[in-house]
Amino acid sequence: MKTAIWWIRRDIRLSDNQALAAALSQAEVVIPVFILDPKLLTSPQASQNRESFLFDGLRLLDSGLRQRGSTLIVRKGEPLEVLHQLYRETGAGCIFAQADVSPYSRQRDGRVMSELPLTLTPGVTVHPPGMLLKPDGAPYTVFTAFSRKWHSLPLTGRPIPAPERLASPPQLASLSVPDSPKSASSGIFKAGEPEALKRLEAFVDSDIYHYGDSRDRMDLDGTSGLSPYFKFGMLTARQAAWATQEAGARALDTTSRKGVESWLNELIWREFYATILYYFPSVLRIAFRPTLSNIRWHEDPAGFTAWTEGRTGYPVVDAAMRQLKAIGWMHNRARMIAASFLVKDLLIDWRRGERYFMQQLLDGDPASNNGGWQWTAGTGTDAAPYFRIFNPVLQGKKFDPHGAYIRRWVTELSAVPDAFIHTPWTMPDAMQSQTGCKIGKHYLAPIVDHATARQYALDAYRKGKNGK
Ligand code: FAD
Repeated sequence: MKTAIWWIRRDIRLSDNQALAAALSQAEVVIPVFILDPKLLTSPQASQNRESFLFDGLRLLDSGLRQRGSTLIVRKGEPLEVLHQLYRETGAGCIFAQADVSPYSRQRDGRVMSELPLTLTPGVTVHPPGMLLKPDGAPYTVFTAFSRKWHSLPLTGRPIPAPERLASPPQLASLSVPDSPKSASSGIFKAGEPEALKRLEAFVDSDIYHYGDSRDRMDLDGTSGLSPYFKFGMLTARQAAWATQEAGARALDTTSRKGVESWLNELIWREFYATILYYFPSVLRIAFRPTLSNIRWHEDPAGFTAWTEGRTGYPVVDAAMRQLKAIGWMHNRARMIAASFLVKDLLIDWRRGERYFMQQLLDGDPASNNGGWQWTAGTGTDAAPYFRIFNPVLQGKKFDPHGAYIRRWVTELSAVPDAFIHTPWTMPDAMQSQTGCKIGKHYLAPIVDHATARQYALDAYRKGKNGK
């Protein structure tokens, strides 16, 4: 074949790119194409932070392509129409792209495939959904069994190195990559494959060995911070899995080995949720467990706004929500605590929280975000039982023991001593004056009493379960 199109979507990278490698193995000239899809760019779930990261990533990809003799072609429009047009213009024999798991991408690709020669390759996960089935062909819905299956499969080939040279594509009209909108995350997460690879290398060289102990601590920088790069495919799960295996071989003691195993376990959770979304696309609309789809949620606009703005009066919840607003990213433990507060303390429908997270998160991914929300709400696959309700004070004390995370994001509490940092409303009046933090003036009293709200949520869940 003389010419092929490499249709780039969530694979903004040159290394370990199975779609690019497949195109190169079959065509003399490969045309790298990115289509700005108005449906995605204007969807209610779109996020300015992600858009900015995507555009920065595309500019870097283009410069990587130019260093190799090629260039990125950018077009805008409905993907099928744009591909038809490009197909006619270039006389390409085939289109190669990386398969995705979301209902939107699968429908879009199905339409393209019915009219054009589109070949899909794996890459979003280490093992494609179809490889991770029970012996009877049904999908797993329990994580432990899924994980066992995942471990039983060999790692599929080593990551593919980036091509050294690429043939120049023919002269084609191309838009510029749009200017990146202002983003809360840009100082903290630099886009692009080189940054992703640098972060992975640094993480597997050191922090991975303490991950087992530090992963839940919101006050420590103990996690990889790689989720935005996985989201946009600036790094593959396969690259991470191989790096993990090599780090495991270098581990010197049980703690280090435990760190490596628990990090791999998180990558497998990501694959679990991707597989769940692939086989159960309805989770984006309804509870995975039908028995818990009749809970009477509260509207509570004031409560919802207080939650989004980090003004609930519970320091750890407020720190989490302010971190999200400030940098477009949140620690996993903080996500669980904040999500639990919305669903169980305010009894607000998990779907509203899910949507808000998608609008803010740099790593916003329909599969993992939905998985995290349904897990917290107790409505998902292998979720926390609904009666397990996080206590925001105890969670704070355990996973931010000295309040450093809280003080970083909730600055009005910066002078509050450790003993009161998780319960500032219990400070004696004199101490409130001394620390410049008068409850009700500088910081709020809790908007709900946790013990009462907990009881209320348990009743609502029980009634929902019994169909009342
Ligand atoms: P690390 O701890 O270094 O983990 C490595 C990688 O494993 C992550 O980058 C991520 O790809 C994967 N991972 C880790 N934890 C989980 C998990 N619980 N579920 C699925 N994958 C995981 N993750 C997203 O990537 N996008 C989301 O939109 C998202 N929304 C979430 C919403 C809620 C309510 C909850 C509770 C969790 C959500 N997560 C989401 C999962 C998790 O919080 C993030 O992946 C993690 O905090 C990213 O930080 P990290 O890269 O430092 O993770």
